Amino acid sequence: MEYILAIDQGTTSTRAFIYGSDGACVCGARREFPQIYPRPGWVEHVPEDIMRSADEVISEVLNKSGLNAGDIAAAGITNQRETTLVWDKKTGEPVYNAIVWQCRRTADYCKRLAAEGFSERIYNKTGLVPDAYFSATKIKWILDNVQGARERAERGELCFGTVDTYLMWRLSAGKIFATDYTNAARTMLFNIHTLEWDGELLRLFDVPRSMLPEVFPSAHGYGEISVGALKGVRVCGVAGDQQAALFGQGCFKAGDIKNTYGTGCFLLMNTGDKPVKSANGLVTTLGASASGKPCYVLEGSVFSGGATVQWLRDGLKIIKSAKASETAAKKVKDNGGVYLVPAFTGLGAPYWDSSARATVTGITRGTTANHIIRAALESIAFRVYDVAVAMERDSGCTISRLAADGGASANNFLMQFQADVLKKEVARARSTESTSMGAAYLAGLASGIYSSEKEISKIRRSLGERIFRPSADEEERLKLLAGWNAAVAKARTSQIL
Ligand code: ADP
Repeated sequence: MEYILAIDQGTTSTRAFIYGSDGACVCGARREFPQIYPRPGWVEHVPEDIMRSADEVISEVLNKSGLNAGDIAAAGITNQRETTLVWDKKTGEPVYNAIVWQCRRTADYCKRLAAEGFSERIYNKTGLVPDAYFSATKIKWILDNVQGARERAERGELCFGTVDTYLMWRLSAGKIFATDYTNAARTMLFNIHTLEWDGELLRLFDVPRSMLPEVFPSAHGYGEISVGALKGVRVCGVAGDQQAALFGQGCFKAGDIKNTYGTGCFLLMNTGDKPVKSANGLVTTLGASASGKPCYVLEGSVFSGGATVQWLRDGLKIIKSAKASETAAKKVKDNGGVYLVPAFTGLGAPYWDSSARATVTGITRGTTANHIIRAALESIAFRVYDVAVAMERDSGCTISRLAADGGASANNFLMQFQADVLKKEVARARSTESTSMGAAYLAGLASGIYSSEKEISKIRRSLGERIFRPSADEEERLKLLAGWNAAVAKARTSQIL
């Protein structure tokens, strides 16, 4: 048996897992770290907190498993995407905190870019819409606002990296300064067609080229870790969290699609070697591949997925736990004509209506809390349906099954209802850790533990999954979709006056 260690550096916690070459998880560890909110809408992390949490989970999984660095054949890294760090090339000292993907501090600047007509050029090169979410404007903010930073950057003294780059740089004492296609694709500085940093965008965002890491495929020998408990282990796989999950779910072919049911929902569809332009506001980005050749992905997100269940629990207080939503929903035979549109922060793809507000329709004297709970779970599936249909339209690919993971995928009612409205199989992997598994598979490929995607598919099958098959009556399904569409129309006119 050979072992792979995967580090999953997320937004609120860092996790590490050790996998055997048979795909089974030997053990895992998780550490939360502080979130910093300096002003409304601003989100930061202290780089040292990220590093410390990574060191701690690495040591913990090695201790738990009784393995040491010499037993680990390769390491993989997956990370929260877009989060931006800038540090000194010589000392490693960060010039500012990490600006987290959620941070809205550059939103006005992005609006100006759109108003000045840059959207199409940016989309044509990067597949992204100008938004504060992506790294480019966060780097610009640091260089413009931290005293002396721009001069230092222009003298070639500073490095920029997303979290993968920063972790590798620290773990190799500055020897590895690199990132992978999937992370580079989320910076808004990387041309996803030529696979190069884009000179015109670097000028637009005023970012010196000397700050940028080298970009490699996700399955690649990045170099050796030279400090800490993993000294001597090679990093052989890197991918942003959503792309790692797509790979971890075995979505290797064009048309393969996964959804992660977390706080929000993230749908990614592999579109093969061709980038697909979206007519529905989905972004086009790069995925991970075994071959190292570019693999393109369509991505769409739903703002409120599991968050809607949190609202039932913490806002309405009509369930004690997220899990209790399943029993409650099953207590009623149908939604009783009640629809909930979870537009708590507006509606994303394919509606893109920031002024829509969450709405419950169809309430009668017969409506009970269980109907509302059921409608809330159904709303997650309807929103995923909306995005999946947009992806089918944009890509011309017919979805055959939806791979599911994330916290809320534990809900059997939700999974069955998803299969029914989509009229496709929904496959929930036994392990919901597809993100770290994706990083481990990539590291296993580049280190020669695995020879092909085919071999990985075989391993995945041996781990088991539960399939939810569509079983709804077609007339009933169309009635539900008509009810949903009518409710969405109401949510879009229900702005707060
Ligand atoms: P994230 O990675 O975004 O923090 P997770 O994948 O850990 O999210 O999933 C947590 C979300 O899933 C929460 O919003 C929670 O309300 C929801 N959730 C967890 N278990 C269930 C369940 N059994 N049924 C419905 N929702 C659930």
